[in-house]
Amino acid sequence: MSTAMNMDDKQIIMDFVLLNSYTNYVDAHIARGVLEEEGINCWLKDENTVTIDPILSNAVGGIKLMVVSSQAERASALLERLRRESKATLSCPKCGSHNIELVSTPRKASNWFSALLGFITFSFAMPVEKVNHCFDCGHEFTEKQDTAGAEEINN
Ligand SMILES: [Zn+2]
Repeated sequence: MSTAMNMDDKQIIMDFVLLNSYTNYVDAHIARGVLEEEGINCWLKDENTVTIDPILSNAVGGIKLMVVSSQAERASALLERLRRESKATLSCPKCGSHNIELVSTPRKASNWFSALLGFITFSFAMPVEKVNHCFDCGHEFTEKQDTAGAEEINN
């Protein structure tokens, strides 16, 4: 095939910028899907590198979401909305309510002994927990952390 370019081809070539990077294959595809639905011209760079070798993904900086520079600002706003929406779809495992907020809470001490132990060891083993608090039933639960994403690719 011929790859010779004329002036018209050159005008089609667009300037892509790095919008975000992901260590998680699924997250990267969700983000790309959302942007494409909104008509944003984007693609995933280093996708194959990450999928084949999750260890290497740290070295190359993960899967890079590239967008046309002229649409980068809008794409960034869409991703921000996606982050907010994914937080809003969080539901209480006890009552199913969406009336949930992430709150910081010191680990609860069940009795005076653990309170004392907690006081002594506080700076080492008692970090402030981030929990999701349900305002409907009062249930508190922790969100699954995203850090295991890279390992899961290997399965
Ligand atoms: Zn609840």
